[in-house]
Amino acid sequence: MTLTIKPACRSVTAINWSMIDTVLLDMDGTLLDLKFDNEFWLATLPREYARRQQITLEEAHAYLDPIFTRESGTLNWYCLDFWSHTLGFSVAQLKTRVAQGIQWLPQAEAFLDRLKDSHCKVILVTNAHADTLRIKLEQINLMPWFDRVFSSHEFGEPKESRLFWQRLNETEPFSLHRTLFIDDSEAVLASAQRFGIKHLITLRQPDSLGAIRRSTRYPAILHFSEIYEGLTHHGRH
Ligand SMILES: [Mg+2]
Repeated sequence: MTLTIKPACRSVTAINWSMIDTVLLDMDGTLLDLKFDNEFWLATLPREYARRQQITLEEAHAYLDPIFTRESGTLNWYCLDFWSHTLGFSVAQLKTRVAQGIQWLPQAEAFLDRLKDSHCKVILVTNAHADTLRIKLEQINLMPWFDRVFSSHEFGEPKESRLFWQRLNETEPFSLHRTLFIDDSEAVLASAQRFGIKHLITLRQPDSLGAIRRSTRYPAILHFSEIYEGLTHHGRH
């Protein structure tokens, strides 16, 4: 009989917070529930496109899916101007209309509270376009928890690109060895790893309606409480 060993999710045992002085955090799928974004791109947007073009939902998907595939992981993918131009209506307005669906992921707010009381510098690094960022922050104002907020659009490169990290580090210098980066995207984490960021964590359930990831390339948490320990013991003052 052969034993099949499934690739396990690499769990995070503990973080030695005294070794960390900068925490870089992604927004969607890390702090905020990716359920909103998945629903928007997979249901709300195709529905609106079908309604405006007077075509069926299937026809809308048939038109949109190849564009999604082509642009995935590029700056265009995150760019509401690109989508508004491509689809012929304001995607930002549509997003605003359904913005009440923007929600925290469990324990994200409590984690930010602890980080704010800690010695760590806390920086938001998102691929979200300025309009998306504005719409999200109008619903959930993340600003009080962060020392700095950066959208990859200001650097002209998505987080998937090494140039993003280079430009971020030039603008806001951080130590590769003393920085923790948390993001739900493995492609983004791989890019951060290639740049040399040492401490990387991903999320097991970025979308609260989605399946829990069983296999991840990077150490993963289901909830932030798994990495709370030791965080409150270092005062900022
Ligand atoms: Mg994300």
